[in-house]
Amino acid sequence: MNSYYLKITKLLFGAALVFSYSSCQKDTTMQNDLDVISPQLQSILSLGFSKDKIVDYENFYLVEGCYIFYKDGTEVPNGGMGADNSNNGKKSQIFRNFGTKVTLANANVRIFVANSIPISGVDNWRPALDNAVAQYNALTNLYLNLQVVSSASLADIIIQSDEVINSSLRDDVYAAADFPLGNGKPGRNMYINLDWNSNQTISEAAKTHILVHELGHTLGLGHTDLALASPYQQIPGTPPPSTGDLYSVMNSSYNVLFGWLGFSNYDIIALQYVYGKKINVSIDGPRKASNSGSYTWTAVSSGGITPYTYKWYRQYGSVTTWEGPISTQSSYTSTMPINNNLQLKLVSTDATGITDSTTILVLNGPGRPILQ
Ligand SMILES: [Zn+2]
Repeated sequence: MNSYYLKITKLLFGAALVFSYSSCQKDTTMQNDLDVISPQLQSILSLGFSKDKIVDYENFYLVEGCYIFYKDGTEVPNGGMGADNSNNGKKSQIFRNFGTKVTLANANVRIFVANSIPISGVDNWRPALDNAVAQYNALTNLYLNLQVVSSASLADIIIQSDEVINSSLRDDVYAAADFPLGNGKPGRNMYINLDWNSNQTISEAAKTHILVHELGHTLGLGHTDLALASPYQQIPGTPPPSTGDLYSVMNSSYNVLFGWLGFSNYDIIALQYVYGKKINVSIDGPRKASNSGSYTWTAVSSGGITPYTYKWYRQYGSVTTWEGPISTQSSYTSTMPINNNLQLKLVSTDATGITDSTTILVLNGPGRPILQ
């Protein structure tokens, strides 16, 4: 399917199914995150529910583990167009709260699939999970590594059938997942609706997409087609709401006919912004020298994980290739090449293998003719 057809198809089907997420639990143990008292929340509280029994989700409040109150005050009809079709894709990549992202210490994210997910047949989502994990791990230069583990005790994320919760997910909901709770770890729970849409079979490609989306929630990514509201924060470098990103994996509307669409470019920018490895290196030292004396240039690195390692290269005269590494120290001391300018290149690598490089030109003077 070419991309144009795919786009048209997605436009046609984009809102055919509601991709919404709820996690209905008998015992609400999730962190209460009601930092904004909206009119809807106020009305729920006025009904007499206790605030500590209300959990804030992106488009609804979950009350006493089972009652869903949509923030826009509407019910989403089963199997119908619940989302605002005109807004599909017309929002930005958003993060639940930058303060609750997975920390570096927890960057190795371990996922366990519980035995409520069958180990064979169409309800076995494990092969699709392997694919979803591989999709994340194929993104380069992220401080994230996803891994499937064989024991719940080793896991950060537990994937279960929605049948284990007090009231299973609605028929039109594929799956549900928690956001990070602020303890530096990913969201704890993911529930899969094994009999979605009256037990319609979901392709492996679509399962992969759904799992990548849900894992996005556990990493803190919000829906790209929801209005920006606290605690959501737009991720810099992603398009403004007026432009949006229809092809984000974090759109809330998704049709299983699409299969696995891949991360959009802005999804990758978003993940790089939140979890990207970044280091920056520059060279401190003279930019002008002469034939006599020796000079020292020093590496200045920031970001990434220390310790850094260094490789210095040089080039001068008629040679146009880099000589070196001429040093692996954090500074380089040398005389100037006689009657030649000197180019220096420095490559800095952090402890995780992320590199940055820079070059400078050192002019050899005075003693050379002045331009007239
Ligand atoms: Zn979602």
